[in-house]
Amino acid sequence: MKNTARLITFCLSFLLFFFIFLSDSHAENGRTYQVSTSSLNVRSTPSHSGEIIGRLNKGDKIVAFQEKHGWILTYYDGKEVWVASQFLAPAEGKTQSNDPNHVQQQQTNTVQVMENDVHIRSGAGTNHSIIGTANAGDTYNLKDTSGDWHQIALSGGSTGWIAAWLTNAQTASEQEQDTKTNSSNEEKSPSSEGTVASNGSLEGINIMLDPGHGGKDPGSIGVNRAPEKDLTLSITDRIAQSLRNAGATVIVTRTSDHYLSLDQRVDLSHSYNTHAFISLHYNAFPIETIRGFSTFYSSDRELANEIHSSIMQNINMQDRGVNQADFHVMRENNNPAILLELGFITNPDDLLMIQSGDYQNGLANGITNGLKNYFNSY
Ligand SMILES: [Zn+2]
Repeated sequence: MKNTARLITFCLSFLLFFFIFLSDSHAENGRTYQVSTSSLNVRSTPSHSGEIIGRLNKGDKIVAFQEKHGWILTYYDGKEVWVASQFLAPAEGKTQSNDPNHVQQQQTNTVQVMENDVHIRSGAGTNHSIIGTANAGDTYNLKDTSGDWHQIALSGGSTGWIAAWLTNAQTASEQEQDTKTNSSNEEKSPSSEGTVASNGSLEGINIMLDPGHGGKDPGSIGVNRAPEKDLTLSITDRIAQSLRNAGATVIVTRTSDHYLSLDQRVDLSHSYNTHAFISLHYNAFPIETIRGFSTFYSSDRELANEIHSSIMQNINMQDRGVNQADFHVMRENNNPAILLELGFITNPDDLLMIQSGDYQNGLANGITNGLKNYFNSY
């Protein structure tokens, strides 16, 4: 009995913790940024007089959990810290060189918006006024690029600016290749052979990615106060990009911070010809030392095994294995469905790892290769 009482007290204090975090959480972002200056101070408070507690180097990646007056709150060495946002560039744009200011802009002629409610502004920066809104799938002609902002042509001959990291700018040569592959399936141009993996592409495969939680449902709260709902949304972008590069058609259950019930997620899966449904979550546990990566399935064990083993070859996180579970989004789904718990955000080491580019790229590649193996062994 004494143990039970202790357990209840423990759970209650954890819940209290949770609600304190929740009410105090201003995380708006979850976006990954890259340091664009050779050395960037990490400070204890959002101010140039804040104590310097570390230094980041050019190319280092961080996840922003809050943005405030030119400062970004992130997680560094187990602590909440602030860095000046003017020396950061979004890491999710189509940046091919190591220098994020040197965005490749030659040949790019259209811009497709990847998220809903994206602001169109009068200039290249969030300090410029909002002159319109764009939604996922909207396509515009590209006029110019400045830093991480694209100037787009609007109806009536006017122009506006849109954040490059919320778009999927296609280059002229990519478009040509798309048309080529669509028009002749049997013919592989020699130039594309190098880019297609030896185990095939995901051409013709529809993948639905389901970032867990959203809106009024924050999911778990990390030790850095970041809500799970933000982390799942940002990693979904990364995975979607990798799958699209492999030729898959990717549908995402939510592209912004809004609430979706589990039934709505399953309905979405059923309303498309979904070949694989992948729900993305981060795990949490009151005991901080619990960590690792888990894959869950309801009946699609083979899909779970392929993806899990491929991910484990690409990331360096503790392996908690493939497990059967009775989760709604899998159980009620008529399409092959799995759920990934991408690490424990209540474990500082896992949390640090999930913010690293190595982990995020490894995860995206692992999922992509796992799906290739699965669909090509059919
Ligand atoms: Zn979750």
